[in-house]
Amino acid sequence: MAEKIPTFTTKKCYECFTHLPLDAEVCPSCKKKVGKVNKIGVAEKPTDWKGYVICLLIWIGLGIFIWKGFF
Ligand SMILES: [Zn+2]
Repeated sequence: MAEKIPTFTTKKCYECFTHLPLDAEVCPSCKKKVGKVNKIGVAEKPTDWKGYVICLLIWIGLGIFIWKGFF
């Protein structure tokens, strides 16, 4: 039995559930960046690598600060 792969002509914004074209990168309603459509027809939340790296650097900086403060 072959699994039926759903095809979508639109995707829904993960934030406000507005219907968007499949190639949309930004939701015009809530201005959030949207990724590719997933298997339930909702746009995936794109990974914010820049924000992730900045967060990591802040934690490393904080760790060094605490380490220098105690030793
Ligand atoms: Zn939206």
